[in-house]
Amino acid sequence: MVYNIRKNDIRLQDILNTTPISVVWSNVSSGRVEYINKSFKQLFGFTLQDLPDIRTWCLRVSNDEYFFQNIIQPWLLSCHGDSSAEDLKTQLLCKDGSIRQVSMSFSTVGDKRLWYFNDVTDYWIAEKRLRTQSDMLEMVAKSSALKDILNLIVKQIQLESPNSLCSVLLFNKTEQCLKLGAAPDFPDFYNDAVDGLKIGMNVGSCGAAAYLGERIIVEDITTHKNWTGFNELAKKANVAACWSDPIMSSKGDLLGTFAIYKHVPSSPTDKDFELINFASNLVSIAIESFKAQEELEKRAYYDHLTGLLNRGSFFQQCESVLNKTSTPLSIVMMDIDYFKKVNDAYGHKAGDLVLQKLAEVSQLVLRQNDVIARIGGEEFAILLPSTKQEGAIKVANTLRLAIEKSRVIGPDNQEIHVTVSLGIAYKEGGYCSVDELLSQADKALYQSKNAGRNCVHSLECHGRRSLF
Ligand code: GH3
Ligand code: MG
Ligand code: MG
Repeated sequence: MVYNIRKNDIRLQDILNTTPISVVWSNVSSGRVEYINKSFKQLFGFTLQDLPDIRTWCLRVSNDEYFFQNIIQPWLLSCHGDSSAEDLKTQLLCKDGSIRQVSMSFSTVGDKRLWYFNDVTDYWIAEKRLRTQSDMLEMVAKSSALKDILNLIVKQIQLESPNSLCSVLLFNKTEQCLKLGAAPDFPDFYNDAVDGLKIGMNVGSCGAAAYLGERIIVEDITTHKNWTGFNELAKKANVAACWSDPIMSSKGDLLGTFAIYKHVPSSPTDKDFELINFASNLVSIAIESFKAQEELEKRAYYDHLTGLLNRGSFFQQCESVLNKTSTPLSIVMMDIDYFKKVNDAYGHKAGDLVLQKLAEVSQLVLRQNDVIARIGGEEFAILLPSTKQEGAIKVANTLRLAIEKSRVIGPDNQEIHVTVSLGIAYKEGGYCSVDELLSQADKALYQSKNAGRNCVHSLECHGRRSLF
């Protein structure tokens, strides 16, 4: 009799060991785990010694002592019978720390409870990938913050590539360096060290990928020449391998880099390459549309020829300053003298160069808080916050002299010089509208023109006591 039972036991275990479904059986009254099949061991890495009872199992697969109490027990209670009415879909930790998405069910036979685990991780990841893609496109359409979009992509790749960390760095063309785009799970000290790094042949994986415009696979950071100067940093951040891909725009310009880091030396598999391609593609869409949006905004707020604020933005900025304060301030109107003659003598292109030069010189003269805009063809307006009449006259004359001294080289190498006339409207206190100030500044400018040009005149704009 004893012999027969054991024989049946062995046969049952053999059968369970051949099924692709992961199976565990436990004792209902004691909670002791009595058997786990081969598929379970392969999937989660745990052996019977690791999981003496259901409570220990719950703790090890969730890292959370409430998992048994809050998830498993309520689920068992909701099932009422000898088997699960509905599968429990949950994430479980494997022995190596990776996460699997499973669909769990159970059945009870006498004092034995059989637990079944269906690994649906690949299906779940594919679904999440589709969702990430559509979420990302929606965020792009809504012009969400670039960092949020990049974080979303990075998180998806980290999910698909267990035990990895990912980062996106953005290329700054002017400074020829990489700026932090998104690296949500890297420690701050690492991100601080990487932010602003100049690109170059031997600058880690990302610096080199950006410099050479090609994928750089570093399987072991400790032995690779690109990482010689960054070994300590990598060690402290617990990264041992780094595969970096340059992100290119549809026109072939460098936008940044996308990198996958591993905690142990490793080389990428075909699946990793597919993942890098997928990520690089999404990241390039995100950065490129962000840049296009930035360009559109620039066009809406800035003058395309000089790069200064345009008329609309100047009014907006002035209004926000004027609404906030009743303290003294001045507005300067500046107009190029006899500019028509410059165009007639040297051509329109040379005229454009003069306008650009004037913008450049003015920006050098003005202070950080002053606001300059091109408000008409050859007319500029400057807001001087907290500046009284005397101060404004000083600034206006400094501008006038700096412009008089500057020069532009014409089409036949001629030196082109221009002068400007300036009109100031100053307000000692109270409230004035932008229109009132500009019209008063315009009158003062007219006085300068009438006085022979290349000079400064000022008029007071009397402020009201209250805003309305
Ligand atoms: P005044 O000293 O009285 O200001 O004389 P002016 O010739 O500067 O003034 P006027 O208003 O007669 O002519 C302004 C000229 O500015 C005419 C126009 O062709 C030129 N202008 C306006 N916008 C631009 C521009 O974007 N580029 C160039 N090159 N010229 C421009
Ligand atoms: Mg003019
Ligand atoms: Mg004019």
